[in-house]
Amino acid sequence: MSKILDYLKENQLSMTETLLALTRAESPSYSKIDVDYCGEVLRNEYTRLVGGNVDVIEKEEVGNQYKFSFGPDNGLKQVLIIGHMDTVWDVGARPIRQDGDILYGPGVFDMKGGLTITLWALKAIKETGAFLDRKITFLVTSDEEIGSSHSKELIEEEAVRSSVVFVPESSIGPDGAVKTERKGAGQFLLRIEGITAHAGINAWDGASATEELAYQILDLKKLADRGEGISVNVGVVQGGTRANVIAKEATAEIDVRITKKSQAKNLLDKILNRPTFVKGTKVHVEGVLERYPLERNEHVIELYEQLKEIANAHGYALGEGSSGGASDGNFTAGLGIPTIDGLGPIGDGAHAETEHVLLSNLPNRAALLAEIILKNAGNPKEEELYVHDGSNSQSV
Ligand SMILES: [Zn+2]
Repeated sequence: MSKILDYLKENQLSMTETLLALTRAESPSYSKIDVDYCGEVLRNEYTRLVGGNVDVIEKEEVGNQYKFSFGPDNGLKQVLIIGHMDTVWDVGARPIRQDGDILYGPGVFDMKGGLTITLWALKAIKETGAFLDRKITFLVTSDEEIGSSHSKELIEEEAVRSSVVFVPESSIGPDGAVKTERKGAGQFLLRIEGITAHAGINAWDGASATEELAYQILDLKKLADRGEGISVNVGVVQGGTRANVIAKEATAEIDVRITKKSQAKNLLDKILNRPTFVKGTKVHVEGVLERYPLERNEHVIELYEQLKEIANAHGYALGEGSSGGASDGNFTAGLGIPTIDGLGPIGDGAHAETEHVLLSNLPNRAALLAEIILKNAGNPKEEELYVHDGSNSQSV
């Protein structure tokens, strides 16, 4: 048996209380005052449960951000856990409702459940007296759901000081598979300048921006590669003014996803330097790849193996999966720091009205996180982590 898991199971009701307190502090990304309040609730819970250092990073446009740290600051590369407290829900948009073991509510799955798990993982490490050989930093940002432009720098700054990054974002499926792969993503705006003319009188003098747009859409689609995991989607198009006018302008918004960093250069070259198909038109593209992919590389596989071992010792099998969506874990992975994602609760319905988590599984997930932290920040011997049933060993 695991002492950490035992401790957390004994505290399942208190974990639910933490999750409820964070969920009641509703925190839509765009409302600084609400996100700030949620941040204070989080800080109080951290101080009450864990203690240790708290740095507040004041922000003007979005909610303040928090850096909680715990354990010895001795120059060793830290273990970093990243999370966000903002949600996609306006205040009052979703009720908070418990139905047996299921808790519904705004952000319970994405990702206040993950924040709860992290606080309690740290609490369990502290209460069981487990040995830490380095600093653990828990960084909580406030704008993940709106692109992280106010936190990307901070996340990257902490990431380069870290040996490993854990992301307690929502897990996958009914068994809580972790995310060992996330696509990288970018958005681009394509603008076409045509030459306007009367569609009946001098049509041949014109150069149609909308006609060029049609060629562009089909040509861009050729860059997608299902086998390689590259997708290119022209999601929004606009162009022209009247049926009887050769269109002067047209635009397209393009979403691009990749699975490997090595795919980026070639693809970006082709997207940013477009050929022209309709004589007389000009094509401009702007945009960047905002997030590199979290690749399923050897570091990620090693972390996943460690997690599987912990899960096995706790009596269950842990699966893995990939996500087409990006998270802040993409930033840390993009810098080459071993990162594993989807360590959050079991549940479903992120960004949907069905959003919920399973309360009885919170201790398991917190124990999983606590023990992977220890594997990377203390190397406790197996016998220190686990006591055999029936023994009254007081190690750890
Ligand atoms: Zn999230």
